[in-house]
Amino acid sequence: MVSPVFHALDAAAVLTHWQTDAAVGLTAEVIAQRYEQYGANALPEQRRTPAWLKFLQQFHQPLLYILLVAGLVKAVLGSWLNAFVIWGVTVINAVISYIQETQAEGAIASLAKVVTTETTVLRDGQTLRIPARELVPGDLVFLHAGDKVPADLRLLWVRNLQVDESALTGESVPVPKMTEALPAETPLAERRNMAYAGTLVTFGQGQGVVVATGAATEVGQIAHAMQERVSLSTPLTRKFAAFSRTILYVVLGLAAFTFVVGAGRGKDWVEMFEAAVALAVSAIPEGLPAVVTVTLAIGVNRMAQRHAIIRKLPAVEALGSATVICSDKTGTLTENQMTVQAVVVGDQEFHVTGSGYSPKGDILTAAGEPLEAIAPGLYACLVAGVLCNDSRLEQREGDWQVVGDPTEGALLAVAEKAGLSQAGLAATYPRLDAIPFESEYQYMATLHDGHPQMMYVKGAVEVVLSRCRCAMNGAGELVPLDPDGIRAAVERLAQHGLRVLAFAQKEATPHQHSLDHEDVASDLVFLGLQGMIDPPRPEAIVAVHHCQAAGIQVKMITGDHVTTARAIAQRMGIQTSEGVVAFTGADLAAMDASAFTEAAVRGSVFARVAPSQKLQLVEALQSRGHIVAMTGDGVNDAPALRQADIGIAMGKGGTEVAREAADMLLTDDNFASIAAAVEEGRTVYQNLRKAIAFLLPVNGGESMTILISALLLRDLPILSLQVLWLNMINSITMTVPLAFEPKPPGIMEQPPRNPNEPLLTPRLLQRIVLVSAFNWVLIFGMFEWVKATSANVDLARTMAIQALVAARIVYLISVSQFGLSLGAFLRGKTRHITPAPTVFLGIVVAVLLQILFSQWPVMNVLFATAPLSGGDWLICLLPMLPMLPVAWAANTLDPALLKPQHSCRRQAFMYS
Ligand code: ADP
Ligand code: MG
Repeated sequence: MVSPVFHALDAAAVLTHWQTDAAVGLTAEVIAQRYEQYGANALPEQRRTPAWLKFLQQFHQPLLYILLVAGLVKAVLGSWLNAFVIWGVTVINAVISYIQETQAEGAIASLAKVVTTETTVLRDGQTLRIPARELVPGDLVFLHAGDKVPADLRLLWVRNLQVDESALTGESVPVPKMTEALPAETPLAERRNMAYAGTLVTFGQGQGVVVATGAATEVGQIAHAMQERVSLSTPLTRKFAAFSRTILYVVLGLAAFTFVVGAGRGKDWVEMFEAAVALAVSAIPEGLPAVVTVTLAIGVNRMAQRHAIIRKLPAVEALGSATVICSDKTGTLTENQMTVQAVVVGDQEFHVTGSGYSPKGDILTAAGEPLEAIAPGLYACLVAGVLCNDSRLEQREGDWQVVGDPTEGALLAVAEKAGLSQAGLAATYPRLDAIPFESEYQYMATLHDGHPQMMYVKGAVEVVLSRCRCAMNGAGELVPLDPDGIRAAVERLAQHGLRVLAFAQKEATPHQHSLDHEDVASDLVFLGLQGMIDPPRPEAIVAVHHCQAAGIQVKMITGDHVTTARAIAQRMGIQTSEGVVAFTGADLAAMDASAFTEAAVRGSVFARVAPSQKLQLVEALQSRGHIVAMTGDGVNDAPALRQADIGIAMGKGGTEVAREAADMLLTDDNFASIAAAVEEGRTVYQNLRKAIAFLLPVNGGESMTILISALLLRDLPILSLQVLWLNMINSITMTVPLAFEPKPPGIMEQPPRNPNEPLLTPRLLQRIVLVSAFNWVLIFGMFEWVKATSANVDLARTMAIQALVAARIVYLISVSQFGLSLGAFLRGKTRHITPAPTVFLGIVVAVLLQILFSQWPVMNVLFATAPLSGGDWLICLLPMLPMLPVAWAANTLDPALLKPQHSCRRQAFMYS
């Protein structure tokens, strides 16, 4: 059967085609059968780069070219064995990198799937939230600003619906939608009665019937669909790549120089070629890319365990240097567990007891007396809260919970305490239409049947008050509006940290069936206020404190009233040395650019801010050199999330649009998880520095040895093959464990790293030079001494290498937590011992490999090594002793490697 052209049919015909009843939706039976027939609504697995190609890509590095060519030259010269070993080691290296890369990509990709996309459907007469992958053709789907369209839909009704179709058409201006049939030949981008899977609802609402799912959708048919590719590239990895390239040029120059000098002085050119290759191979830290990938991947995993899901890898690094965290208040800093505690009607204030969403509790007078009856004014205010409401309460395992918005749940609970049931009111005054709450407008309105028909409005006090003409008093009589009295009451409630909502009503014109913003723009009757408590999350208070100790400013951004926000900020310690400095969106709007920047830096609370101002705040802070983390949940937050160095969206609440724009998701929507992610980000950076501090001195020592020996025309103390062994096999076994190092002590007690700080700080460089020099003396000395005493060059080389590895073990311990713990243990401070089993494991494996390297005859042939006697082994262990003071000196020179240090420059930067 040829599928009809749905955009050319009217809505009714499309419903008939899919046998969907517009009022009921599909039935369970049909759904099951269609699911069987059409499968899950999921895009086919992305066609990935084939494994063999990815494997070959591992060779796409200048260094590996050199090695492949070197192998070729060796083969031409007849040293087939040498050639095969070189090639063999490069293949092993490629296999290791391949495995690591695939694992890291897989881990990140699967984390992104942790948060499932849900969608709202009408099935069997009920409105349900289901995972988007369970949709079948014929399902009726509701769309709302912030949703990602879950399948291809033919729209049935729309209200101001606008969809950003850039993912499909490249056109970034949102398309307004309608429902009338269109000519069959209308191109995709102009089919305004359709909503396509993968596009984003930026405004309004709508409903549509699913006409295609999964691979059958338009996006499913595009090759290389918009599925996100996992990229392992970050600023840091690019820095490393650039660094390796620089080294490469220097090394090629030096190698050519050695070759020319040696050959010019009459040395055998084959020997000089070997020296040049060895030099080239020795100088480049071959193990580094693998270690960087592993370290980043481990960081991502650890963050996931602490409820922060990384969507874009560069965020891992940015987290480590974050200087400001701008956080939403409601739900992130606070519990989002709302309970109404006060109601103000006319000049009366009522207190409400009870907690959570349970209907247990009472409404009392200001004096604490129980009410004899619910007076008409109070009744009207509570009814408005129940009718102008999109949520409901449900009892699950004895616990009352909100399905929907906690703010609205609180309004239902307080009405229940007065004996008003949502079901009863909804039946008496059926809803005809509604304008849902949107942060941008800060109010919600509904239209209800009845005699007379009534409109109810609830929202932010300023917004509602400005639309009111008069007020209702406690007795239910209309009286003149007293804006100052109302504002004073708001201030009183807000000072206790209560979130205050205002309520109003208006008679509708008879037979009015729809509701528009204009209908509630004026002439409302003010009904009263309800104030609800939303307690701060205790763990967020601790996390705010940790962030501040770590030199990170915390700023609260909220749509709530400034007094409420200020009170909560006070309780949570969100302040600067000036105390809580609060600005409102209106304050900010009145400022010029420089005053705005000043306010962005100074302020700790930003209340009633519009989403567009969030973007401005991020930009202002960045213009002062800040690295900004910003949370957001709404559609309009997306630009701010993209602009921020770390855009953070909520995995539980929040819209799909915000998630799409974010670098990181919080699975528990909790501020404490941001602080945890920062801590992990800092640990990642620290571990990378350790890896560098550990790897580079071996390269340094080797290249100094080879360069000097070659220029002096002496025998090479290590051959190119042996260098390969050291740099690839030995380095990776000993360095990868550093990626698993636990967080260093006090990592959250230091100011953030200066993002402009080079990877190789002067102190780190000094450390590397010091240990390199030691390694040179060690290799050169051991080789020359053994050669002189035994006249066995192979043995001399083998012993030089074993001695180097022995000393290296000491150095590894000295840069790891293992060493720190050992030091603590020796000083009797057992409290400071953190277990670091991976470093220990790395050492054991490295030792076993080294034993094979010299004692296994096969290795003797492959790597030109010689077996050592017991006495030789002992001699090789001796250099561990002089390494002790060298490692100590290195740690004294560059103490920041083990315990992050105060950097004075950074302090100056922070408070400038
Ligand atoms: P927040 O940053 O605290 O999440 P919102 O943008 O959600 O702020 O809310 C801003 C203001 O809008 C609140 O102070 C409240 O007055 C009002 N408001 C919040 N939720 C609703 C709702 N569901 N219906 C009507 N008004 C609401
Ligand atoms: Mg909110």
